[in-house]
Amino acid sequence: MNDSPDLLAVLSASGRARYETLRANLTSVEQRVTAACAVAARARDEVTLVVVTKTYPASDTRILSALGVTDVAENRDQDAAPKAEECRDLPLIWHFVGQLQTNKVRSVLRYADRVHSVDRLRLITALSAEVQKSERPELGCLIQVALEASPGSGLHRGGAAPADVPALADALASAPGLRLDGVMAVAPLTGPDAGSPRRAFDRLAEISSHLRRAHPAATMVSAGMSGDLEEAIAAGATHVRVGTAVLGVRAPLG
Ligand SMILES: *Cc1c(COP(=O)(O)O)cnc(C)c1O
Repeated sequence: MNDSPDLLAVLSASGRARYETLRANLTSVEQRVTAACAVAARARDEVTLVVVTKTYPASDTRILSALGVTDVAENRDQDAAPKAEECRDLPLIWHFVGQLQTNKVRSVLRYADRVHSVDRLRLITALSAEVQKSERPELGCLIQVALEASPGSGLHRGGAAPADVPALADALASAPGLRLDGVMAVAPLTGPDAGSPRRAFDRLAEISSHLRRAHPAATMVSAGMSGDLEEAIAAGATHVRVGTAVLGVRAPLG
């Protein structure tokens, strides 16, 4: 991690302490990512660290950018929109990773470079319509897969059932203003792969490989968080989404 003399010079004592904490945490996450790549015989640059800044203030995002972080993620538009506005001068790629209601689409499109949580046709239609109305460039989209969903169960927290991925991918790929970048998943808490993130991420890798037969450019695999980034990298993740291990344990959301 590089020191950033410009930012350090303007930070208060508590700001400098936060800077040192985030630097130390990033260093240890970077060591974990590097070690996991080595174990998997993958090059370090095949994996992008996306730092999930949800619930933390814009001042932390600013410190992370100064420390060399290139990609940040948010999951709630209410928190993300003002934060992204405050950080507009920073060279960051913004990922939206939370469940997205269609009434939030316009706001999210003001700052998000990528949306990882596309999981239904109605959302694809809404995103495409809003991108076309706006001046913004194409939106990179990932299809979120509900790895806990068993056929016909319908009981999951966001994400498309694996069987629905091909049709959603075709719809996304042909929607004006949208670009199909790949797939995203969270290790399931229920279902046959609960407690085995590696098995879940291997299934995601299979879904990705199937997807790439029809859509060769959709190479992103977004998987792995603070607790299971090693398993995700072993299974082929290209993007790991890490919050707690960098920023600390979050206060419970209200
Ligand atoms: C919060 C969140 C993360 C980060 O989780 P940590 O366990 O804090 O690393 C990753 N992905 C999504 C979709 C999240 O909402």
